[in-house]
Amino acid sequence: MKPTEITKTEILKIYKPIENSAHKGTQGHSVIIGGSYGKMGSVCLASKASLMSGCGLVTGYIPKCGYNIMQTFLPEAMVITDINENTISKIRLGITPDAIGIGVGMGQDRQTKRALYQFLKNSTSPLVIDADALNILSLNREWLLELPKKTILTPHLKELERMIGKWESEEEKFEKTQALSQTLEVIIVMKGAPTYVFDGENVYKNTTGNPSLATAGSGDVLTGIITGLLAQSYKPLEASILGVYLHGLTADIALPETGHQAFIASTIIEYLGKAYLSFE
Ligand code: AMP
Ligand code: MG
Repeated sequence: MKPTEITKTEILKIYKPIENSAHKGTQGHSVIIGGSYGKMGSVCLASKASLMSGCGLVTGYIPKCGYNIMQTFLPEAMVITDINENTISKIRLGITPDAIGIGVGMGQDRQTKRALYQFLKNSTSPLVIDADALNILSLNREWLLELPKKTILTPHLKELERMIGKWESEEEKFEKTQALSQTLEVIIVMKGAPTYVFDGENVYKNTTGNPSLATAGSGDVLTGIITGLLAQSYKPLEASILGVYLHGLTADIALPETGHQAFIASTIIEYLGKAYLSFE
């Protein structure tokens, strides 16, 4: 299983510049579902990243306690609140967006688990699943098996371990991840240094990124970017590949200007513009 490198040449085959006739309705509507008391930054960052990936409209679905936080942090986003104050308890969107990212900062409350399961049974939008949503699904293999085909899963290595169990060697980690992506017919973005993308058939290795990305909220931003790209009609594999490449590229472009230490998750979002400009 030799990975294909995700290089600029590959990216330029995928990347679609914005057309002159574009309006917000043609640029996709993404919804980010997540957040809980004390962890609202995750949805705020993911939603901002989604917008700055080029998405036309973004809605956050969050517990009530996050309303003022999110509307203040990101006035460009719309917000729908759950009936519950501090965690998500029932997911009622009332809209059918072009893509949904779920899990960031969501926690694992009993009612959140039930809400996630009900939501996945009924959702028809293309999905990105991250963080606590992955942790919840890992508790019950039946739930993983019911995931819609072509769903994108974005585990870091701990989350991956909860999904596939421990591994003895790198080879075994790759084999188990490949097997899971095949069985579930999903895309698995195995985050790390470097990040690999599995689509059940092939494996792709990202070539951008550096240790600046080892910072709180970095993965939440990636979820927002990939969800935003999915909403802009990129296919799930394309959105995953372009998403990890852009995410890493921000850190590479920023490095001479910010250094490693002062680069935080918001800086990834800040440099998305320069990353896109390097495609022109
Ligand atoms: P998370 O742990 O969910 O916040 O995700 C961390 C993100 O940062 C993933 O996209 C990782 O691939 C990326 N990342 C973390 N550390 C490094 C590193 N040393 N080099 C490159 N990417 C990294
Ligand atoms: Mg994460």
